[in-house]
Amino acid sequence: MQPNLLILGGTTEATVFAKAAAAVCHNGIVSFAGRVNRIKRQPLPQRVGGFGGVSGLVHFMQTTNVTHVIDATHPFAAQMSRNAVIACAQAHVPLMALTRPPWVARTGDNWTHVPDIQGAVGALDRAACRVMLAVGRIQLQNFVPNHQHFYLLRLVDPPVIAPPFPRCHVVVSRGPFTAENDLNLMQKHRINLLVSKNAGGSGAYAKITAARRLDLPVIMIERPPILKRMETNSVTDVLTWINHIGAERGV
Ligand code: NAP
Repeated sequence: MQPNLLILGGTTEATVFAKAAAAVCHNGIVSFAGRVNRIKRQPLPQRVGGFGGVSGLVHFMQTTNVTHVIDATHPFAAQMSRNAVIACAQAHVPLMALTRPPWVARTGDNWTHVPDIQGAVGALDRAACRVMLAVGRIQLQNFVPNHQHFYLLRLVDPPVIAPPFPRCHVVVSRGPFTAENDLNLMQKHRINLLVSKNAGGSGAYAKITAARRLDLPVIMIERPPILKRMETNSVTDVLTWINHIGAERGV
């Protein structure tokens, strides 16, 4: 029997892995939460929308005969990752996370580390300045108490409702970005502070390079804790793991 993979996606890593899995003729499906209007075309079939918590995910895996789960979600997608750990344990389906290492400050970086979004909100309780707020769309509401700032927002889709800030500018654009463009963007909007999640990877790193070049301070939001699971940064390792587990189980 062929492996039948459930790839939890929404990241560049998930798409790269899906290509590699398709290239070696694995069956599978790539799952998206449905947070963006346009999903990147995948080399495997895709589905969109939540499973309905842990029990929904268990049901999905059992009814579609999933043999392996690859959690390649964003490092801040903590709920999905938690659900995957619990559901896979319940359904006895092996799980591997395909992750990317967090960014580490380099010489010239001026980072203030905060543990979570609320930490970033607290750090912005200060005199008005011009902030590039790179936290995505969903959590913007948290920053409403700090309405004294001008916010530069970069979103994947045009906002359906106006952002909740009296002074802001929205750029609709999808990564990967270049350091040169991000530097120009920050200069154009006279940004003097960057707020970023520690996403890791290369696609969103341009703004960090741009901030370093412009000598701008960065409020860096650390990653949420995730339940313990097997994980790797390597697509090849995941493919090897699939074959290894498959051989053990006769898959
Ligand atoms: P989350 O808070 O961990 O997930 C909330 C709920 O959304 C989950 O419980 C699940 O609903 C559903 N969900 C999340 N990822 C899913 C997936 N790949 N397939 C099916 N359902 C999914 O996640 P999030 O932070 O909202 O992120 C959603 C998606 O956007 C993820 O796929 C992630 O890779 C991507 N993304 C997130 C960020 C970020 O900063 N968080 C950035 C870039 C991309 P049910 O409980 O109903 O199953």
